[in-house]
Amino acid sequence: MPAHYGKRWFDLRRKFITYNPTCERCGKPATDVDHIKDVKHHPELMLSWGNLRSMCHSCHSKRTSNDQIHIDKTSPCDVNGYPTDPEHPWNVLKK
Ligand SMILES: [Zn+2]
Repeated sequence: MPAHYGKRWFDLRRKFITYNPTCERCGKPATDVDHIKDVKHHPELMLSWGNLRSMCHSCHSKRTSNDQIHIDKTSPCDVNGYPTDPEHPWNVLKK
């Protein structure tokens, strides 16, 4: 966990797991608290109770790696879903 999360996050996380002791995905005992909206894009929601959900470690790491795949998959495209590479066949056809 990044150091800047600090003690407030640590306390909130522990309390959240006490109230929500099972993984939201598979029902196993929760070990991790996930931010529904990514803290990177929504830092103001980091300590917001409504933005949290309990997960077991396995579901949480699956979610984290899915995010990673999502980023890798979309990065060669612009916001409209078109490839940013000028040599891509779609862009070559437009010329
Ligand atoms: Zn789980």
